[in-house]
Amino acid sequence: MGVEETIRALEDIGFGEIYLLTKKARKKPQSSKETVKVDQYKGKILQDHFMSFKDCTKCPLHRSRSQVVFGDGNPDSPVVFVGEAPGEEEDAQGRPFVGRAGRYLNRKILEVMGMRREDVYITNVCKCRPPENRKPTAQEIRSCFPYLRKEIEIIKPKVICCLGSTAGEGVIGKNMPITKVRGKVFTYPYDPKIKVFLTYHPAYILRNPRAEGEFVEDLKKLKDLIA
Ligand code: SF4
Repeated sequence: MGVEETIRALEDIGFGEIYLLTKKARKKPQSSKETVKVDQYKGKILQDHFMSFKDCTKCPLHRSRSQVVFGDGNPDSPVVFVGEAPGEEEDAQGRPFVGRAGRYLNRKILEVMGMRREDVYITNVCKCRPPENRKPTAQEIRSCFPYLRKEIEIIKPKVICCLGSTAGEGVIGKNMPITKVRGKVFTYPYDPKIKVFLTYHPAYILRNPRAEGEFVEDLKKLKDLIA
């Protein structure tokens, strides 16, 4: 009996709708397609995570923000860059590191590490802009840290690169002078498989161009760490 005859016979005995599963539909997905599915899955989990705190009022920084600034970039990146908090442009656009310091960071990671902005993931320890771009307080950092911790848990990078001492304080939980700890590797306290690397904040390099050589040296080390 052919396909059409079979369908007619099934309709005669009461089957209303009949779906055929083609060979193409039955074929197992290619591994590359499976990888894409994983990316989309992580992206969706991140999106749900962000939506869960978009109206957060846990600390006083909610009063000075226009919007919560979520992390941005490739959820499968081997490196997560972590800054301090959004500035004026980030607060207005709702994306981290879009101001002058962000453009400088994009240029340096491309030149030194051969990675484009969209290849990496970038976020902040505090997700809301502090008034007059002041440094977030230890209490504000502590209030916001669970959101960053969850981001890291979803992304599972090889390395977290803290940009500046405030980011280091948020991720490691200790206040350490960046000039003493830059270029050093620590273990992430919440997952020993993840390394924490510290370097200068790009805004510091823009104010102190003489430190650019050290910053470049650090990015080369970071490139080796994620290889
Ligand atoms: S900085 Fe973090 S903890 Fe504070 S209000 Fe914004 S999202 Fe909430």
